[in-house]
Amino acid sequence: MTIQEDATAYNVPVKHAMTVDVEDYFQVSAFAQVINPADWDKWPSRVEANTETLLLLFERANIKATFFVLGWVAERYPALVSQIANAGHEIASHGYSHQLIYKQSPAVFKEETLKSKQILEDIVQQAVLGYRAASYSITQESLWALDILGELGFTWDSSIFPVHHDRYGMPGTPEEPYNILTRQQHTLKEFPLTTAKIMGLAIPAAGGGYFRQYPYFLSRYLFEKASLNGAKPRVFYLHPWEIDPDQPRVPNAGRLSNFRHYTNLKRCLPRLERMLQDFNFGTVSESLASYEIHQSLDLQQYGA
Ligand SMILES: [Zn+2]
Repeated sequence: MTIQEDATAYNVPVKHAMTVDVEDYFQVSAFAQVINPADWDKWPSRVEANTETLLLLFERANIKATFFVLGWVAERYPALVSQIANAGHEIASHGYSHQLIYKQSPAVFKEETLKSKQILEDIVQQAVLGYRAASYSITQESLWALDILGELGFTWDSSIFPVHHDRYGMPGTPEEPYNILTRQQHTLKEFPLTTAKIMGLAIPAAGGGYFRQYPYFLSRYLFEKASLNGAKPRVFYLHPWEIDPDQPRVPNAGRLSNFRHYTNLKRCLPRLERMLQDFNFGTVSESLASYEIHQSLDLQQYGA
């Protein structure tokens, strides 16, 4: 191999993963204290229209993304799931009921994760292999969930955020895609949520609320830095409700929840358009295929 070929190979950019967690504005963890899931059907749904806006944006940018669809949504809007899949995007599972995994029992988690997988597979007539937990709630307290994902036939997961946060996070776990060997010997590929190291601190740079709160240049800088200037694939996420400034307001949610949910909804869509121009995005599977995994985490040893 010549030096020239080496350099060319090195310069081939990796593909980052563009992901959407398909859920409605009234299902988020920030409002879980004031909205009972039994009342979800009473709220006017916006998820179809907002997801269609994202589909148009991705079509214009000529990229494919991964859509983690909540089972509850898929059950009510199967045509939306078909529309996403027919446009060539990847369908993955966001669970069924959007409850935090570490507050569920393994039995309930297993039952509803299987249910959500089957709902999606019935619609798209293909195996659904990827999973993302509600609010990244696979943590030190819910590592058993990874065993169940392996048991149910999932091959990859994107639920682990290597940061400190009040609701999620596994600080110190790898920042790039890695193999997880679960306690019951299942192997899963993990695509962790993006963090950038600034002065030794892991700063969230994965999208969502952070993307709405930071000015665009900062998000761009952090994502670029997190990817080691394009050498490592990173994941970006957004929710359909984050591009919808006109969504009905949820009363009595409290200041922190209001801040997390409503900040800069208007700015989100134009910023996303810029992200699509500034980085090379594809589905999670495309991104994982563009990169050779070097790291692994053996849960029999982790945290023991
Ligand atoms: Zn979610």
